[in-house]
Amino acid sequence: MTRDQQEAKIDQRALELCVRCGTCRSVCPAFEVLGWESKNTRGRIMVAKALREGFPPDAGVLDSLNTCTTCGICAAKCPAGANPPSIVQEARRVLVGRGVMTAAQAGFRAKVAESANTFGELGDRLGWLSDREGLPDRADSVYFVGCLDSYRYPEVAARTFEILRRFGVSLLRDEKCCGSPLIRTGSPAETVMEENLRQIREMKAKTVITGCAGCYSTLKRDYPPEFEVVSVPEFLALHLSELDLKRLDMTVTYHDPCHLGRHAGIYDPPREVIRAICRLVEMKRSREEARCCGGGGGVRAGYPDLSLEIAKHRLQDVPDGVDAIVSCCPLCVRNLSDAGAGVEVIDLIDLVARALETA
Ligand code: SF4
Ligand code: SF4
Repeated sequence: MTRDQQEAKIDQRALELCVRCGTCRSVCPAFEVLGWESKNTRGRIMVAKALREGFPPDAGVLDSLNTCTTCGICAAKCPAGANPPSIVQEARRVLVGRGVMTAAQAGFRAKVAESANTFGELGDRLGWLSDREGLPDRADSVYFVGCLDSYRYPEVAARTFEILRRFGVSLLRDEKCCGSPLIRTGSPAETVMEENLRQIREMKAKTVITGCAGCYSTLKRDYPPEFEVVSVPEFLALHLSELDLKRLDMTVTYHDPCHLGRHAGIYDPPREVIRAICRLVEMKRSREEARCCGGGGGVRAGYPDLSLEIAKHRLQDVPDGVDAIVSCCPLCVRNLSDAGAGVEVIDLIDLVARALETA
């Protein structure tokens, strides 16, 4: 068997861990909205198994596999130790390898190939930066901005960098997409990853700091372990005493991004930062139990209606009387806002910037 043929198979052992108990049915956010067995975790594993046995992939198979947000709550709850999001990702990879993919999957590939970002934007990625001339060529730490903050929330990128540069943090001059949307939807991302890696090496950076949960997860898990990856909330929590934050008369709640929370165990740092600024009231389901915003795994691009319905379910967890929902991922902020949150949805850095403005 050639290497390609070996790669074209979904790992049998991973599939066999599932004992079909159905525990995951009660937590899968896509199933909660759609209600079909093929759109819940257990069904997706059965679909992946059928694919492995030669079942031809039709539109139903693609919908089953691509409606998973890779939120990971099923893996956290599975009594048998199965890792469904990784099976889903692998099954997507196998199908993409055979040229079978949805329009949204093909769209990510085309856009990243043409523009090195997920939006197909041809404008300057560092357009939000006023004085790039002052950027050093070498730095121990670099801020990895990500596609969303670069092109959709440039003010968040600017606020983040304004704080980080006080600590000697620099930027990659020609950052590309981290590769997350490609990898999660089954496509190779080596081209952009290698270019980012080359620049990180050139900078001789030991630490990469990012404010996007998707970038964090990808830099940490999919890049070679040559540098430390630190999330912006971790960095802020570490430097709290140096920030001179003033208290704000606000009550907020915090939404745990799946790729920062369940996938990486980063629960306390954002809460520490929030509590240093204002009152925090937890969502009805938080930390390991937090429901997904619906934006990840390519679902926002591929199944926008489902994505917004998942976000609406998540908004039911928001406690009464809060002034804002705070999160640490631009995709979560975007999806929860678009679903009509009723209160402002802001990035943690926006809250920090307000506490600094009043300083
Ligand atoms: S993935 Fe885990 S929780 Fe879901 S049916 Fe299989 S064994 Fe049960
Ligand atoms: S990772 Fe989330 S969306 Fe995907 S199957 Fe598991 S619970 Fe459902």
